[in-house]
Amino acid sequence: MTAPLVETRNLKKYFKTSRGLLHAVEDVNLQILPGKTLGVVGESGCGKSTLGRTILRLQEATDGEILYNGENIRKYRGKDMRKIHLNMQMVFQDPYSSLDPRMSVHDLIAEPVAVCGLMRNKVEIKEHVHEIMEMCGLPANHSNLYPHELDGGLRQRVGLARAMAVSPKFIVCDEPVSALDVSIQAQILNLLMDLQEQRGLCYMFITHDLCVVKHISNEIMVMYMGQTIEYAPTAELFAHPAHPYTKALLAAVPTIDLSKRNQEHFTLKGEVTSPINPAPGCRFAPRCPYACDKCKEPCQLHEIAPGHLVSCKLFEK
Ligand code: SF4
Repeated sequence: MTAPLVETRNLKKYFKTSRGLLHAVEDVNLQILPGKTLGVVGESGCGKSTLGRTILRLQEATDGEILYNGENIRKYRGKDMRKIHLNMQMVFQDPYSSLDPRMSVHDLIAEPVAVCGLMRNKVEIKEHVHEIMEMCGLPANHSNLYPHELDGGLRQRVGLARAMAVSPKFIVCDEPVSALDVSIQAQILNLLMDLQEQRGLCYMFITHDLCVVKHISNEIMVMYMGQTIEYAPTAELFAHPAHPYTKALLAAVPTIDLSKRNQEHFTLKGEVTSPINPAPGCRFAPRCPYACDKCKEPCQLHEIAPGHLVSCKLFEK
C-alpha cells in the first residue's frame, strides 16, 4: 500500500481570546497520498484555511502531529524546517494581495529561489524563471510586468509559479480560484491538474465550492467548526452524502437536473454555535433538523462504507 506523503494525527489549533479558547482546528486526522488531491470543504470560518497554514507550520499547532514522508515535522526548527518548506508550498486565494506590487513577474518568481539559496548565478536563475513561467502558462514577454498590469488569472499563475519555483511535492491551495471569473477558474484548475500529472504533485485543495472540489479532488473532507464531520472518496461523497451538514451543502448547489427535484433537501437555519469554549456535543446541533438528546454527547467518526467516515449520532450503533 502506498504511504501517505502528508498526514496529520489529532491536529489541534486553538487561539487565545479575551473570552476563552477559540477551537479553530480540533483533532483533525487526514492522509494525502503522493500525486493525489484532498479537497477540504466548509463554510467561511470553519477552520479550513487555519488547518492548511498549521500543516505548513506558518503558525504553530497547539497539539497533535504533522507528518511529511512519515516524519513528524513539528520537531524541526530553523534550517531543517526551511528544507521541509522547499517541499511544502502554498497558493493563496487573493493573488493581488499575496504578490508584492513593487516586484516584477521575474523578480517575484526568482525571489523564493534566491531566498532558499537554490541558485546563486543570475543567468541560471533567469533561465529557471523562464522555464517556470512557461510551465505555468505565463508568456515570456510578461517577465518585466508588475502585478497591477496583469489580470486575475495571470496573477494567480504568478502565485502558482512562485510556489513551483522551488519544486515542491505538496501544495496547499487555499481557495485559489474563488476570486476569479468562471472561465478563468477552469484554466487555473486545468493548469493545477496538468502540473499534478507532470510532476506527481500532492494537493490539499481548500474551497467552499463543491463544484470545484468535485472536479479536482480524489477524496473530500468536510469540516464544520474546526472538526471533520465527513471524509470520503469524491464519487462516494457525492453519491451517498451522509452527514446532515454535507447534505445541506450539496442541496445548496444550483442544478438544472429535474430528476433531482424530489430529493431530500433542507436549508440551513439556526444559529452557528461559538467556536470559543464549545460544548462537548455535536457543534452542528443548533442547525440540525435531526438533533436529539444523544447529540449533546461527543461524536466520533465512524466508517459507514469503505473509506467513508461520518461523525453523527445517526450513524452510531
Ligand atoms: Fe444532527 Fe445529532 Fe448528527 Fe449532530 S449528531 S448532525 S445534531 S443528528
